[in-house]
Parts: sequence; C-alpha cells; structure tokens
Amino acid sequence: MDELGAFVIALGPCGVCEVPFLFNPYLVPSFKDDTSPTADTDPWRPICRTCVDRINPRRVKAGRKPIRVPAGAYPGGGTTP
Ligand SMILES: [Zn+2]
Repeated sequence: MDELGAFVIALGPCGVCEVPFLFNPYLVPSFKDDTSPTADTDPWRPICRTCVDRINPRRVKAGRKPIRVPAGAYPGGGTTP
C-alpha cells in the first residue's frame, strides 16, 4: 500500500442516495441501516454531504446525535456544481 502521506480519496456511491461522490474513506461519515436484517454483517456505507445535511435534522428530531462531518471528509470542500 502506497498512501503517499495522508491524502486518500475514494470514489463510490452514497449509501443513501446512491449518487457517486468523492470522499476520504478514513474521514467520511458512514452509516448502517440498523433496521436491516443483516445489519451485523452489512458494510458501513459512506454518506455524501447532501444526504448528511438532509438527514441530520431528522436524526435530531428523533432524539439521535447528528452525523458529524470531519474536516477533509469531502475533497474540494463539498462544493456542488
Ligand atoms: Zn447521498
């Protein structure tokens, strides 16, 4: 593995909206669908910034902690075209 320092970028589909996006796999927020019958073995899935912004108000309303987005999770600062 050659990581060339600390900047690692992955491209993959968002676990929520399935739109591909760029992310730092070490930093990106991820989730499991804990209502899934296979939640124990399901992989963690990355979430894009748009979905984080959409989901957080709902999580807070449901009494859960908002998803935190570490700096650098989305290269380019998460700008949308
Ligand atoms: Zn998404």
